[in-house]
Amino acid sequence: MIEPLRKSTREEREQWLKEAHYNVFQLRSEQVYIDLLTDSGTGAMSDRQWSQLMLGDESYAGATSFYNFEGVVKKLFNFKYVIPTHQGRAAENVLFSYLVKEGNVIPGNAHFDTTKGHIESRKAHAIDVTTDEAKNTQLEVPFKGNVSIEKLTKVLEDNKGNVPFMVLTVTNNTVGGQPVSMKNIEETCALCHKYGVPVVMDSARFAENAYFIKTRELGYADKSIKEITAEMFSHVDGMTMSAKKDGLVNMGGFIATNNEDWYQGAKLFCIPFEGYVTYGGMNGRDLNALAAGLDENTEFDMLETRIHQVAYLAKKLDEYGIPYQRPAGGHAIFVDADKVLDQVPIEEFPAQTLTCELYLEAGIRACEIGYMLADRDPETRENRFGGLDLLRLCIPRRVYTDNHMDVIAAALKNVYDRRHEITRGVAIEWEAPLMRHFRAHAPLIKKRDRMGL
Ligand SMILES: *Cc1c(COP(=O)(O)O)cnc(C)c1O
Repeated sequence: MIEPLRKSTREEREQWLKEAHYNVFQLRSEQVYIDLLTDSGTGAMSDRQWSQLMLGDESYAGATSFYNFEGVVKKLFNFKYVIPTHQGRAAENVLFSYLVKEGNVIPGNAHFDTTKGHIESRKAHAIDVTTDEAKNTQLEVPFKGNVSIEKLTKVLEDNKGNVPFMVLTVTNNTVGGQPVSMKNIEETCALCHKYGVPVVMDSARFAENAYFIKTRELGYADKSIKEITAEMFSHVDGMTMSAKKDGLVNMGGFIATNNEDWYQGAKLFCIPFEGYVTYGGMNGRDLNALAAGLDENTEFDMLETRIHQVAYLAKKLDEYGIPYQRPAGGHAIFVDADKVLDQVPIEEFPAQTLTCELYLEAGIRACEIGYMLADRDPETRENRFGGLDLLRLCIPRRVYTDNHMDVIAAALKNVYDRRHEITRGVAIEWEAPLMRHFRAHAPLIKKRDRMGL
């Protein structure tokens, strides 16, 4: 399946970006030339998946498509209980509605934004326990997504009896699609279990994580992705999954666990929020396509092709000297915007500014994973400037060619070459109280001011 791309002029893009309140989430897809906003639901399905759509069973309850999907999930992850949901955040909503109480503390390695949203909106606290190595973008270590055992110990020790579970995110999306090692998964789970705390794996990119374990961790080179997957999940108590990423479908998600109490509790929330427990907001045909997608994306060749394309883009950026979170992650390149636009003060959101500049340059829509997304502290309402400020170039699965990677790199180089002229960033004019990055209005501070005139 192919789609046409639409080119545009700089003048058109200036007008469109203005109409979008300088927030690329508010652009129309026709206004975008190459769309790197996300790899979520934007992949192309295979011939096998399309053929599975035709076999979808749309029965309200007990559809064959559900049992087909459930069978694949049970086989890959070895969990007894499986609940489909319409996407990852819905899985979080259903499970967390049962597990999270006001005042709880939920440690995790850089909680994803919706995960954090579902914790904080229930007046609980998401505490980041990612290794400090992740904060230094230029440091080349193989497993930058790891949990800091020291930080996790402190949180568990200080909050005994108040931690309903820990969230282990693989790959660690927020710090750059960086993997977690098998050794770290094992140690993290052992530590949590010592404190009687169960572990939920936030599994959106589990297959990419398994690929990195195979290619980077001693002792796994000869194991298959499916064997590594089974081992990863053998340590945890349950999973939430956004199937829009490593499930290779446009929409879908699920919860799986061996914990019968969680299963019974989650079902209570699945039915009113998502639908009956054998469809959970998904069509039968989509459950079938997801079953095929999970099977395909746990094959080494598929993952290698994808991750090599991301590495190809990284190599181009190396040629141009553009700094990004090293080494290249699984699904995206995360450009270190603070280093590129080092004259833009952090209060003016360098990564958000770079997102606007790249769109104006070439119609490429990237995504800010930085101070805008970090949002405000729910109590003090201060901006959270403590983390990384990154521009994410996210690569959809099986969609673009290496030629597109060349265009992306060249466009970014053009912005990089005139980075010294960019001294002012954006100013937030309006923001929502939660997850502001999706809808915020944040115009570029006027050209006149930007040139210091
Ligand atoms: C995408 C994602 C989610 C949320 O899933 P949706 O399908 O977008 O609702 C949760 N966690 C991680 C790590 C993700 O990447």
